[in-house]
Amino acid sequence: MEQKERIASIKETVPGNVTLVAVSKTRTVDEITNVYDTGHLDFGENKVQEITDKFEQLPKDIRWHLIGHLQTNKVKYIASFVHLIHSVDSLKLLAEIDKHASKANRSIGCLIQVHIAEEESKFGMSYSEAETFFKEKHYLKCKNVKVEGLMGMATNTENEEKVREEFRKLKLFFDEVSKQYLKLNVLSMGMSQDYKIAIEEGSTMVRIGSAIFGERNY
Ligand SMILES: *Cc1c(COP(=O)(O)O)cnc(C)c1O
Repeated sequence: MEQKERIASIKETVPGNVTLVAVSKTRTVDEITNVYDTGHLDFGENKVQEITDKFEQLPKDIRWHLIGHLQTNKVKYIASFVHLIHSVDSLKLLAEIDKHASKANRSIGCLIQVHIAEEESKFGMSYSEAETFFKEKHYLKCKNVKVEGLMGMATNTENEEKVREEFRKLKLFFDEVSKQYLKLNVLSMGMSQDYKIAIEEGSTMVRIGSAIFGERNY
């Protein structure tokens, strides 16, 4: 019940042109079902094993988003069902997704993850790597993937101005890529702590976990 109320109140703060992905990592099938029963269909997971298990147990109209780091040797487990992969950070990974999408006879939407935070530990291409990626256009050889946009995670800090600057810079890059190289449609930025700032700075997709499901205990 609590989760149903939480997602309803979050939806009031998310404009209609912004997609809300409910991040259900570590959450049970029952908890996800509570949210699904409100009519919500977009769910995000960060681990291949977990997204696969949950896909098998839950209704097939759910759109599964992979938001965590993806190893090339695990693409095969998700290629038949994943809706959007937010965490593509190399051409090699994109080519592997393309290969398995082709085998599954489908097209998979992909976002290029850009490393926008100050922390070292987070994955993603640097801005210069991402620029090269779009400029060289090797991704055009991958016929069964669709590069739809960018994903970024801001620094985990109380400093809202810093977070805002990081989102703003990613949005500028998004517009620049759209203008010069490839029209992008999806800008995935914003989590429970910072999604309102992300929306103000041009996000079209927010990934919200704890604000819907409560704090995670790993
Ligand atoms: C866990 C996670 C989220 C959601 O985080 P919350 O703070 O719980 O909203 C969003 N994006 C990614 C990539 C994540 O791993």
